[in-house]
Amino acid sequence: MATKRQQAYQDVLNRTPKHIDYDGRISDLFGKNVFHMEVMREYLPSEAFKSMTESIQNGTRLDRKMADQVASAMKDWALTKGATHYTHWFQPLTGSTAEKHDSFFKPVGPGKAIERFEGELLVQQEPDASSFPNGGIRNTFEARGYTAWDPSSPAFVIGKTLCIPTIFISYTGESLDYKMPLLKALNAVDQAATEVCQYFDKNVTKVIATLGWEQEYFLVDQALFNARPDLMMTGRALFGHSAAKGQQLEDHYFGSIPDRVTEFMREYEMEAILLGIPVTTRHNEVAPNQFECAPMFEECNLANDHNLLLMDLMEKIARKHNFRVLLHEKPFAGVNGSGKHNNWSLSTNTGVNLLAPGKNPKSNLQFLTFFVNIIKAIHDHSDILRACIASAGNDHRLGANEAPPAIISAFIGSQLSTLLDDIELNVKAGKMTPEDKTELKMNIGKIPQIMLDNTDRNRTSPFAFTGNKFEFRAVGSTANCASAMIVLNTIMAKQLKDFKVSVDTRIDKGEAKDEAILKELQKLIKESKKIRFEGNGYGEEWVVEATKRGLKNLKDTPRALKVWSDKHVTDLFNDMGVLTPRELEARQEIEFDSYILKIQIEARIMSDVVQSMIIPAVIDYQNKLIKNVEGLFSVLGDKAGKEAGKSQIELIQRIAVHLNKMKASSDAMLMSRKAANKIDHAEEKAIAYCDKVKIHFDEIRYHADKLELLVDDELWPLPKFREMLFTR
Ligand code: ADP
Ligand code: MG
Repeated sequence: MATKRQQAYQDVLNRTPKHIDYDGRISDLFGKNVFHMEVMREYLPSEAFKSMTESIQNGTRLDRKMADQVASAMKDWALTKGATHYTHWFQPLTGSTAEKHDSFFKPVGPGKAIERFEGELLVQQEPDASSFPNGGIRNTFEARGYTAWDPSSPAFVIGKTLCIPTIFISYTGESLDYKMPLLKALNAVDQAATEVCQYFDKNVTKVIATLGWEQEYFLVDQALFNARPDLMMTGRALFGHSAAKGQQLEDHYFGSIPDRVTEFMREYEMEAILLGIPVTTRHNEVAPNQFECAPMFEECNLANDHNLLLMDLMEKIARKHNFRVLLHEKPFAGVNGSGKHNNWSLSTNTGVNLLAPGKNPKSNLQFLTFFVNIIKAIHDHSDILRACIASAGNDHRLGANEAPPAIISAFIGSQLSTLLDDIELNVKAGKMTPEDKTELKMNIGKIPQIMLDNTDRNRTSPFAFTGNKFEFRAVGSTANCASAMIVLNTIMAKQLKDFKVSVDTRIDKGEAKDEAILKELQKLIKESKKIRFEGNGYGEEWVVEATKRGLKNLKDTPRALKVWSDKHVTDLFNDMGVLTPRELEARQEIEFDSYILKIQIEARIMSDVVQSMIIPAVIDYQNKLIKNVEGLFSVLGDKAGKEAGKSQIELIQRIAVHLNKMKASSDAMLMSRKAANKIDHAEEKAIAYCDKVKIHFDEIRYHADKLELLVDDELWPLPKFREMLFTR
């Protein structure tokens, strides 16, 4: 009789690719299911269109009459797309997205009904907020929260539902989601950056942050996935010996994409295109069965909505193709994990990318200003940057020789390093002579040339300058990019604000503007030097060097999350108008809880699998061996039987050793879990789960994986890595 695992494997081999046709050219399909500007122009009366444009661009509120008109137009358009329902689409702190569907349909008399959707329903809704995490913000007396429309991200139709991007807030106004603080952070950086731009160009009235994410993921066949309780419940394989062939050959990267996978990609990409997500590239990643999707960058809030949508689409569409998508940061030990690089920059309403060197000395000084300020912001707030990417899943990846270490540093390339060193050394303390200024201007003027041969591509840095943007590489693949983007834009806003004050003070004291800016930049370069690192971030030497420099190496999530309650952090977020201390405290608690929950579930599944799957299979095999040895003894007699059964006897003993050690570790883990569960304080409990519970995982797994190698393949209950990673 075949085991469940073998049946699953047979299913995989019988699969054929599922092909779906789309009519028309991609360019014609792009954004077809989105209520974007062009559609609005067509559906809205001109007055409403004008208010809507203003609302999108400047965040102004629509009055009730306009909102009614927009709602009605949205509905009319959605009906042409076959929509029957609408929903407020939001991003609660669970990490995924949430929806509550309502029908347009309204009975108005016997046998009579209409489709209706008014401004009131568009602007605000009350989902049952008590079922979403709130970190204690809403006690039972204020159990109401509501969602409020975000006009800056366009509504869209998925299936038969009109989805309206919204923020999610408590009745008392505290944010319960990722979007609201993100919008506030984007607003803060817009204001601060626009003011600094005014030194260089009076035409700049708005600065937008841009985000280009790169989503990595694994695909596993659905049948194999279903035969692995650990994958089903935790998204990662808690057991499994590495396949004989791993990623050593590196033959998967950019390799040919197998048909079944291609068909899956084609479908989700087309659905993404219909939703206006600009997906363009498609390739394999380093590990077997690992892939990446990287659309073109967009305005940060929209890009983030698109990432969440895409993750959702992938999961749904994967099932149609008999795959499961694994977004976990480390589904398989021994092969690379998955990240989500966040490419980030700032650009102006005049079309200038502030992190790209310009054509003349003036615009280069502007580039340099933003460039140096971001380095300084990273230097001053590296602990927050570390905290915003902390998660149970990402702990497996950071510092594991495949992803940037848990030490935050910035890589800028040798050319720009030289330039910064030059400014640090050569800007004179006293008043600058005209010659000094000319020389400096010449140096700064050379930036575009030196950047042309900037071929440095340091892949080991968590935060790297890549020519015209920074790439934050430490973000985990499951993360909501908003976590990283809230932090990055907030610390940049703070830094730019401080910079403006310092430069203005210098100007007031009589320094010329350019000189004041340069002197201030020199100061920032000096102060932030230790965060710059050009070497190998994966190396052990870096850990030593970083300690010498006084940089922190917070290896696990509970330690990294501590920073959210530090006074300098709560002050910063409060001053920038992004999150209040109460909101931060709630978030910290939710993150501790989520960490605890994840480790707890992993621990439970581990015990279950050991107890109810691995041990029975091992005993089966052991009995088979024992029977064999007994047979040898009875046929050959004791002496010859012992001789003939030497390997089997040795195997029986080896199996017993691993079995007992595995069981003992599993029992020890259970005891630690019970002890940890008695702790009330979220932070202490998270630390207990990290130091006392999780610590047993490796030992349990070590013995289980040894047993996998010893036990008859026919009897082993869990699909093996070679099956999960190499079957298509
Ligand atoms: P990789 O890291 O795989 O080598 P690239 O370095 O080419 O890829 O990065 C490409 C990513 O950077 C894309 O997702 C792209 O959209 C994004 N990107 C390019 N310019 C910007 C920008 N100004 N702002 C934000 N993201 C950008
Ligand atoms: Mg990248």
